[in-house]
Amino acid sequence: MKYIIANWKMHSNYAFVQDWGQTFVNALTSQKVEVIKNAAQIIISPPFPYIHDLMSATADQSESIILCAQNVSHHTGAGAYTGEVSAEMLKDIGCQYVLVGHSERRAMGDNDLLEQKLKNVLEADLIPVFCVGEPLEEREAGRAWDFIANQLSLLKNIDPAQQLLIAYEPIWAIGTGQTANLEDIEEMHTQIKAAYNWPVLYGGSVKSSNAGKLLASSVIDGALVGGASLKPDEFLSIVEAAS
Ligand code: PEP
Repeated sequence: MKYIIANWKMHSNYAFVQDWGQTFVNALTSQKVEVIKNAAQIIISPPFPYIHDLMSATADQSESIILCAQNVSHHTGAGAYTGEVSAEMLKDIGCQYVLVGHSERRAMGDNDLLEQKLKNVLEADLIPVFCVGEPLEEREAGRAWDFIANQLSLLKNIDPAQQLLIAYEPIWAIGTGQTANLEDIEEMHTQIKAAYNWPVLYGGSVKSSNAGKLLASSVIDGALVGGASLKPDEFLSIVEAAS
């Protein structure tokens, strides 16, 4: 079973969600839903305001689509935290997963908040998708694994029985069209898997034309897809590549 996550980032509007949901549901229905469902967990991560709209737009296939939030507050409980969204709220509206540590959020200052975010997500009984990835200069200097191992160290006190996904996303491959080469990805995934027991997904310019090759690898447990997830047919082709 592979995990295929669509990360819409800060894209979409109400019309987009209706259209995406309808196209996706039609495509899913016309293909063998059971086959696809057995091969892949389809996880969609819209911006906060559209999570419920996507639920409604995909209600016909609600069992095939799992919701993920792109972010969560580091604050706990409820309180005077204007603009923040708590893990409990995400659980309450039906999310199952939350992205934690995406490189785009790390670049916005999230690094110091990640330990608390992970805690909040786990305490709310949600599943973190913990994202790690090295910048190009670290890879070129031969320090990619050291960099990733350091980012992963936040997971060292988490019970291995806890559900969690790791997404390996080299920063230089995100949104650039430049996928890391398969050997490098497999080497990194093998190292991560030797240290942690959770599934490891790859992210970085995954599209229908490279998904088959990537997802055929036994050490790649799925894909985190940004740009290519905005086109439902393209995203479904990636899901199909997992089958
Ligand atoms: C991402 O959003 O995590 C991502 C990998 O984006 P893209 O597929 O566009 O590179």
